[in-house]
Amino acid sequence: MSEAALALEGVEKTYLKGTPGEVRVLAGASLTLAAGELVAMVAPSGAGKSTLLHIAGLLDTPDAGHVAIGGAEMSGRPDRARTMARRGDVGFIYQFHHLLPEFTALENIVLPQLANGASRKEAETRAMDLLGRVGVAKRADHRPAALSGGEQQRVAFCRALANGPRLLLADEPTGNLDPGTSDQVFGVLMDLVRETGLSALIATHNLALADQMDRVVRLAEGRIAPV
Ligand code: ADP
Repeated sequence: MSEAALALEGVEKTYLKGTPGEVRVLAGASLTLAAGELVAMVAPSGAGKSTLLHIAGLLDTPDAGHVAIGGAEMSGRPDRARTMARRGDVGFIYQFHHLLPEFTALENIVLPQLANGASRKEAETRAMDLLGRVGVAKRADHRPAALSGGEQQRVAFCRALANGPRLLLADEPTGNLDPGTSDQVFGVLMDLVRETGLSALIATHNLALADQMDRVVRLAEGRIAPV
């Protein structure tokens, strides 16, 4: 059996701990994603979805509990090991594209690959391949401001997949688009994820989109529960 792409076990997180404003966001959240599995996470705003995604993606550390990526335990590992795993194994997509405005679409997908040790030639070839798959190859030389919202988000998908991650984490990836564009861009994302065989945890408010995934879970009272 292949390793779980992501395993969260008993994850706890409290902000402003020990102060009157203490917020207990995660209270023993556990979730396992099999290799190639697509899971939707639904919850109201403020339930802790971003917190959980940041912990899963090694951008933040839990107060207690375990995080493993591809079977490798990450809790308590040094920063350098966590950074390496994050760069190589995890791709992020946010509600807003967060592309670098002064660089072209192509460069935005090339740069993370250079940071991960790829040659410029390899990185450009891969970037063009990814842009072609999401139907934006003709816009490769455009800066983000010259792209539509849907195109910007497609480029952001390519950037997230640039280093061939095993795990994709997405926080309301189409939440900023109008409904028609959202459905279309989400379809592109699903195709890309299925084609590349990676696992994905996608937070969304959109139940119709959530139903297209392999499994839907909800985050309630700091824990993950089936829907
Ligand atoms: P969601 O993504 O589901 O909207 P978040 O994970 O962003 O939820 O936030 C969960 C709760 O934690 C919210 O009440 C939010 O205000 C609080 N929170 C998030 N980040 C911080 C922080 N850095 N400091 C204090 N409270 C925070």
